[in-house]
Amino acid sequence: MQRPRTQGNHDALEIAQRLQAVRDRLARAAERAGRPADSVTLIAVSKTVPPSRVYAAYLGGVRDFGENRVEEALPKQTELPDDIIWHMIGHIQSRKARDVVGHFALTHSVDTVHLAETLQRRAETAEVQVPILLEVNVSGEASKEGFAPDALSAALTALSGLSRLTVLGLMTVAPIAATPDDVRWVFRGLRELRDQAAAAFPSLRLDHLSMGMTDDFEVAIEEGATLVRVGRAIFGERPT
Ligand SMILES: *Cc1c(COP(=O)(O)O)cnc(C)c1O
Repeated sequence: MQRPRTQGNHDALEIAQRLQAVRDRLARAAERAGRPADSVTLIAVSKTVPPSRVYAAYLGGVRDFGENRVEEALPKQTELPDDIIWHMIGHIQSRKARDVVGHFALTHSVDTVHLAETLQRRAETAEVQVPILLEVNVSGEASKEGFAPDALSAALTALSGLSRLTVLGLMTVAPIAATPDDVRWVFRGLRELRDQAAAAFPSLRLDHLSMGMTDDFEVAIEEGATLVRVGRAIFGERPT
């Protein structure tokens, strides 16, 4: 790779300060929940963020980055250090599934059995194992992707036949809310679904709960998040 140049020290300083604030918030939330801060991984969501600013966050110590579009993520990956742990967090169209396999440490957004089957076929060809989370539409909003909560058990049964996929847990996106406490039930709901699934499928290790973003990650941590996906609090507002 070529090291992306950060624009003077400006990006680096601004992002270092934002990161410090996010890490403080994360540590305080973990403490409130009686959990060690290192039980929560901060994923910096770098969608729409140019490589120079992503690199500034890397210099600030971040190693986990999340992208929501394969066609944006893959070119960025070639410009950034090899030890970055890339997370796919966005909806994946079936025809893009082939590009996901082998390029992400964890795919959070598996939202249909059909997509899982497509990933499985591609992973067989590539002879790789694909770590995934299942996205669950806990809030039930029509605009959201994800398995309905009452479809999760059937999905896990279907996926148990897909040997190339390793299910490591669940992911959800909470609705936009006036206050973070308004969506606590969504995060609690995901945790309860995970606990039920873990009991019903004892051979699976459903350790991960990917939940919580800039506006609500502290509440998500209080409810058991192991992976928080934070964009704006680290990189600032995205262009609309
Ligand atoms: C954009 C995005 C995030 C980050 O959102 P912020 O509000 O910027 O923290 C998290 N998860 C998903 C799935 C996203 O698309």
